[in-house]
Amino acid sequence: MDVRSIAREHLDLAVLRKRQGHKYDHGHALVLSGGAGRSGAALLAARGALRIGAGAVTLGVPPAAQLEVATQIRALMLARVADAAALEAILEDERINILCLGPGFGLGERQGALLASALRSGRGLVIDADALTLLARDAALFGWLHPGCVLTPHGGEFARLFPDLATALEAGMGRAEAAGKAAARAGAWVILKGSETCVAGPDGAIARHRATGERAAPWLATAGAGDVLAGFVTGLRARGLAPRQAAELAVWLHVECALDFGAGLIAEDLPERLPRVMNRLG
Ligand code: AMP
Ligand code: MG
Repeated sequence: MDVRSIAREHLDLAVLRKRQGHKYDHGHALVLSGGAGRSGAALLAARGALRIGAGAVTLGVPPAAQLEVATQIRALMLARVADAAALEAILEDERINILCLGPGFGLGERQGALLASALRSGRGLVIDADALTLLARDAALFGWLHPGCVLTPHGGEFARLFPDLATALEAGMGRAEAAGKAAARAGAWVILKGSETCVAGPDGAIARHRATGERAAPWLATAGAGDVLAGFVTGLRARGLAPRQAAELAVWLHVECALDFGAGLIAEDLPERLPRVMNRLG
């Protein structure tokens, strides 16, 4: 199925405009934020998840960062997540159907423990940025990955996680092949980002999205764009899309938003363009 059909299927009357649904029918995402002064990236992801249609998004913040995020996005719910025990308590709420970890997360012991706890919960996860670095540092964490996880590395993060595949890429291996091998090794979905972004699954599925030629979107090479993409994947997973559909649709919509905005784009413009892009599909 091509990505436009996936988009139509999931943005159609039956889903986005589901008449009788309430917010929790559209999923509840938990985005875990980093400490004080580092919450911008998680806010971008949370905003992306909300705009793409997650019914509810909770931002999990360490107590020190609570004040700085409190007034940023009024539609967000906030939860204090001091440690893994606090996360486990929050996850007793079974409506939370997807977690996003990584943007602005930090690399400390607390974050490693939160990632371990999130992986052990068996919930769907979107793993980006600092959480990818934590995975690269700890083989035990890497071993907990499962097919409900979507990893969203850019080239540098990919090289930390899969140094041999990065070397092979430099020696001429195709990006799709490298992403496929990575996904098979991780037992999880991998979105290898760049101007050519490849989505690969542990089942051997591979899709390529070239943001080149007519679809060139160089404005996406801007701080925070990846955090928004992680939020898009998270929001679509919250809505109930499987990892493959969520990943492909998120990557495609991300580029559509950039093309729609054009020159001068900064990351926070991307979620704001989604309504226009999605309403045009209908
Ligand atoms: P990050 O490096 O995590 O902020 O992610 C950057 C995002 O921008 C990813 O979604 C990339 O696929 C996208 N991106 C980066 N550079 C380009 C480019 N030259 N053309 C199109 N997309 C890009
Ligand atoms: Mg990033």
